Amino acid sequence: MGRFINQENQTVILGGGLTGLSAGHVLTKAGLKVKVFERDSEVGGLSKTIARGGFRFDLGGHRFFTKDKTVEAFVRDLLDGELVSVPRKSKIYMCGRYFDYPLKPLNAVFGLGIPTTLKIVFDYGTERIKRLVKRPANVSLEDWVVGNFGRKMFDIYFKVYSEKVWGIDCSRISAEWVEKRISGLSLAKAAKSAFFKFSGRDMPTLADRFIYPRLGIGRISDRLTEEIEKENDVYTGAEVRYINHSGSVVEDIGVDVGGCFDVVEGREFISSIPLTKLIGLLRPAPPEDVLDAASRLNFRDLVVVAVMVDRERVTDQTWIYIPEQKIPFGRIHEPTNWSESMAPDGKTLLVIEYFSFAGDSIWNESDGRLVDITVEHLEKLGFVKKGEVLGGAVVRVPKAYPLFEVGYKETCERLYEYLDGFKNLHLAGRSGMFRYYNMDHAIASGISTAEKIIAKQKWEVGDPGSVSGSGDEEVVAVLDSVL
Ligand SMILES: Cc1cc2nc3c(=O)[nH]c(=O)nc-3n(C[C@H](O)[C@H](O)[C@H](O)COP(=O)(O)OP(=O)(O)OC[C@H]3O[C@@H](n4cnc5c(N)ncnc54)[C@H](O)[C@@H]3O)c2cc1C
Repeated sequence: MGRFINQENQTVILGGGLTGLSAGHVLTKAGLKVKVFERDSEVGGLSKTIARGGFRFDLGGHRFFTKDKTVEAFVRDLLDGELVSVPRKSKIYMCGRYFDYPLKPLNAVFGLGIPTTLKIVFDYGTERIKRLVKRPANVSLEDWVVGNFGRKMFDIYFKVYSEKVWGIDCSRISAEWVEKRISGLSLAKAAKSAFFKFSGRDMPTLADRFIYPRLGIGRISDRLTEEIEKENDVYTGAEVRYINHSGSVVEDIGVDVGGCFDVVEGREFISSIPLTKLIGLLRPAPPEDVLDAASRLNFRDLVVVAVMVDRERVTDQTWIYIPEQKIPFGRIHEPTNWSESMAPDGKTLLVIEYFSFAGDSIWNESDGRLVDITVEHLEKLGFVKKGEVLGGAVVRVPKAYPLFEVGYKETCERLYEYLDGFKNLHLAGRSGMFRYYNMDHAIASGISTAEKIIAKQKWEVGDPGSVSGSGDEEVVAVLDSVL
């Protein structure tokens, strides 16, 4: 039997990723009582940095970029003196060759050949003309990309990679999502930005520098935790097992903290754990149609393989995208190109992302075999030789990407509508709200949720309709989401 934790006016935060910790930090600074519960043994969620024997790596390189001045100041304040500015330089491997990413027109023409380039321009022109005659249906990612970039561009540039990332056909991925992510971008605009020196003002999707903590992205979460722990508690290895509610109020949660079961009461509850998981933890259980809606939302999982190499540097790239079907992984990055402190002197590491569904053949493969497969492919691609590989590490990342299948929005709305009925439950963050949030959106979501609670407590506003299920943060267009 565990403890019964009750503190008046306490806010209980489910999940110790960037969202939960940002909320916890803002509430702590405002002098409120907070408890954060994180299932993993470390904080940070998707934005953590793994340390192995002097090597460090993120769960897929995390670049910090934002248009939101408040969020930028929040991060700069936390990491004063720890940030480096990194030039963004990426390549994409298509048709057996590497191309600059974003594509440069001359590079593309010579690489793809004149016939393919002409076909791209012709197909784009055809789509523009079709558009003048009839407004396109735009239900799926395929509809949207073909409409804005042309069929040929979709086939060679978007289709294979998107299907590798998402694991489903592009006709099943919602257009609404891609439209939001890369709104305003078209083949013409992308080409224009490649011809003329890009300023970063008009197309943040393709910005060419970003900031990064010297010791990896996980430093943001580490610093947030340090700040919270000056006054409050962050529990790791603490899995929320149920959420008790009565009427329209959440009363307490049951948490397994390292084998000891605690019941934790609170006044306000912030959930940044996956939306579908939250629904499954509620006691009493939600109505059948809500459970049914939750069962229709899916996530894409990720397997990260780090390969440590006895060489100073392998590439000079930020990311290398690998759409090629015959290669089982989708993206490579070399953390030492982001910060030299990510490996011991004279050594480096390559970090490889396998997009996967938990339980599939990649997910279930043994760690040793995954490292071997990865090294074999890296060798074939000309990056490393087996003899210089010092070792490998594998991290499985469940629920890495909300999967935006056609119809997801209506499904989410049913869940938001139901959860909106709770007076003291606040949804926040990427998995928490089933939104394609980047780190800046996650931080902004945590901050705004905390501010809502502070306002509610300070002025004792009654029943403000607590669940923030509808649009708050601006969704910044990032082509990386598609590629
Ligand atoms: C491969 C990859 C690359 C990315 N690259 C970038 C990038 O370059 N730039 C960028 O800005 N963003 C990037 N992102 C997005 C970024 O990682 C997220 O926006 C951010 O980390 C989301 O934070 P969060 O707190 O909302 O969610 P999460 O990090 O998912 O946090 C939720 C937390 O809840 C915990 N949890 C779950 N269940 C329970 C439970 N029952 N009890 C207690 N805790 C629980 C989880 O362990 C997790 O720590 C990337 C994401 C991925 C997957």
